[in-house]
Amino acid sequence: MTTSAREVRQTVVDGVTVEVRRSSRRRRTVSAYRQEGRLVVLVPARLTRAEEGEWVRTMLARVTASEQRQRRSDTELLTRAAHLSRTHLGGRARPSSVRWVSNQESRWGSCTPAEGSIRISDKVRVMPGWVLDYVLLHELAHLIEPGHGPAFWSLLSGYPRLERARGYLQGVSATAGLALTDD
Ligand SMILES: [Zn+2]
Repeated sequence: MTTSAREVRQTVVDGVTVEVRRSSRRRRTVSAYRQEGRLVVLVPARLTRAEEGEWVRTMLARVTASEQRQRRSDTELLTRAAHLSRTHLGGRARPSSVRWVSNQESRWGSCTPAEGSIRISDKVRVMPGWVLDYVLLHELAHLIEPGHGPAFWSLLSGYPRLERARGYLQGVSATAGLALTDD
């Protein structure tokens, strides 16, 4: 058995109860997780109070962002798709199902117009909301217009971040060496 100096303190940051555990055994890494509503942050004992405070804010932001991404469930996708259809397509695209898939290697999104089903790649899950919205809107537009002709792109023309989102996806694809397209 080794003994280690350990100090536990509770604070409240941005309305969240944070339990800071300082450990002399911990050398460099800081980690955090949610436990019964509070945020537990594990830090090396050698950190100054100011450093600790900065880390607590950083980890709170990270954990919150990760929780938000996980909330992007299939249900949220369908709600989001319905909203996009109303806003940009006059409600004409009415998907029967919208879901996340992990087996889609070559496309960000795909759809089966005959069934009204849309599938979105898991890879989009961690991307900004405006990129996800573009991928959704792209597939929704295919429920109305199957090809990529002028009629298709005119359906998307009302989406304000169209070119930015396409550029974002091309950048991710190129960086990862993926042959993904937004077709
Ligand atoms: Zn397409």
